[in-house]
Amino acid sequence: MRRISLRSLALPGALVAAIVLLAIAAPLLPLPDPVRQDVANRLARPSLMHWLGQDEYGRDVLSRIVWGARVSLSVAFAAALMAAAVGTLAGILGGYFRGMVELVTVRVAEVVLCFPPLLLALLVVTLMGPGAGTLVFSLAILFAPGFARVAYAETLSARALDYVTAQEALGARTGRILFRTLLPNIAPPLIVQFSLTVASAMVLESGLSFLGLGVVPPSPSWGLMIRGARASMEQAPLLLFWPCLALTGTVLVLNLFCDRLRDVLDPRGKAAGRPGFLRRLVALPPAAARPASVTPGLLAMEGLTLEVPSPAGPVQVVRDVSFQLAPGETLAIVGESGSGKTLTGLAVMGLLPAAVRPTAGRILFTGRDGQVVDLLRLPEPEMRRLRGRDLAMIFQDPSSSLNPLVRIGTQVAESLRAHGTTRGTRERVVALLRQVGLPDPERAADAYPHEVSGGQRQRVMIAAAIANHPRLLLADEPTTALDVTVQAQILALLAELKRAEGAMGMVFITHNLAVVNKIADRVLVMYAGEVVEEGPVAEIFAAPRHPYTRALIASMPEGDAERLTAIPGAVPQPWAMPVGCRFAPRCDAAAEACHATAPVLEDVSPGRRARCLRWKEMA
Ligand code: SF4
Repeated sequence: MRRISLRSLALPGALVAAIVLLAIAAPLLPLPDPVRQDVANRLARPSLMHWLGQDEYGRDVLSRIVWGARVSLSVAFAAALMAAAVGTLAGILGGYFRGMVELVTVRVAEVVLCFPPLLLALLVVTLMGPGAGTLVFSLAILFAPGFARVAYAETLSARALDYVTAQEALGARTGRILFRTLLPNIAPPLIVQFSLTVASAMVLESGLSFLGLGVVPPSPSWGLMIRGARASMEQAPLLLFWPCLALTGTVLVLNLFCDRLRDVLDPRGKAAGRPGFLRRLVALPPAAARPASVTPGLLAMEGLTLEVPSPAGPVQVVRDVSFQLAPGETLAIVGESGSGKTLTGLAVMGLLPAAVRPTAGRILFTGRDGQVVDLLRLPEPEMRRLRGRDLAMIFQDPSSSLNPLVRIGTQVAESLRAHGTTRGTRERVVALLRQVGLPDPERAADAYPHEVSGGQRQRVMIAAAIANHPRLLLADEPTTALDVTVQAQILALLAELKRAEGAMGMVFITHNLAVVNKIADRVLVMYAGEVVEEGPVAEIFAAPRHPYTRALIASMPEGDAERLTAIPGAVPQPWAMPVGCRFAPRCDAAAEACHATAPVLEDVSPGRRARCLRWKEMA
């Protein structure tokens, strides 16, 4: 597929190269002086000496076309490059940082865009005087906002993708995220914008030269040639035809070239129809027993409360969530969409969306140096040092968690380099890929993400996450996007890694209770932003004390993992929470008191808690 794409680039590439070479080689070609006049032969028809004829001053038209290409292309490329550099930087910074940066970059660009382009160019040229330098400057001002808008819009959508969040989770520096991760991914539309800009700049340069505000006569330019030919178009119509043909042809070739270049630069297109690698069937071992050496103290969340703004004021999306995790322990956080489980995980990583604000609570974490820090209040530079080293995260969709334009080995190596490993990274990457069960790790390291299967992409994400031996691994629905067989393989791999890493704690976020049974030691059930039940997995499955947990267990199909669909109704929206118990509208055990009194989380037995007014009757 790659060869076909490159071949499609050959013809437009050759044409662009020919035009550029012709323009560069103009002084070396056996052409007459483009400004030498021969008034006696003005408007002469094409001849052996003058293949395209002579203009209104008897100058050689072919020579002026070739020399004109030099001027037009130089002005257009210089203006487009300047506009691309300034506009892209403004757009990417505005889209990534938002807030005030967005205001002073993108919004200013939008103000410039409000001016009619020709009028703006005329204003700048009138203020600074005509000439090629002024022309480049004014065209750059004119076209930079276009780049800013494209870069801004693309950055906004790329910013929300998992592989950018994954880079942040690995502790990558902001500069690396902006220019190594985001920029290559937003490049294809920018390349198209560049081609359009070069073409528009050529047309505008010709227009301004035509108006006498661009290139200064007698220097040859296509705009000046069109202007000169206009007066004599009835006697010598070909004089108008040649520069118009040169302009139109060059613009078309440039557009075609950039269009093909975009296709080649975006390797995602090559993945279509490619078969996945042979999938290994791995038997799922039973969940590991809770290690005897477990002692409390890896992670302690205390009363975490998160709010989002709404037209009616702030609303709580997570309320008073507390739990503890010991080294070597696996805690599953389970609940339907909207339960707040993912936000709880993101709060641990310090990766909450901008709109979500922690308003109460602490997240105490014991680092590898033995120091306890509150992750909720840790300054960002220190948080970045922890991410990817002490704290690691695996996301739901491995397809969007990996940068599609960067080879797998490079992406795994980045997580090592982000935390100081500079030597032997290739060997370490291959060892990691082998550890997570990729069949040909050497080859996989050189492959792009689209060249391996979904399950293997998730293995790559796991390899990147464990590269620095984290003390805590957060896995946010890591098997949801995979088919059942691959789900089982990934769960087996995570269990294997847990055993190998010993003291590594894991928080496994899922909506699937069947998965919990296979991987976790303890489970935290969340509903509508609150913890409704907590306890050891075996005890919760044997005797759930909350009707929601009971309903989740009842909705599990026999024997295998499927999506939970059987509980009637839906999780209430944060701004429309029912009075009393939040689960009451869906609860088959709801009593009258449940609609008036909000239950609190009560100790049921040592290590077990439930939030239900009737938990004693649920035994
Ligand atoms: S408090 Fe009442 S409504 Fe809420 S879960 Fe318990 S029984 Fe159901």
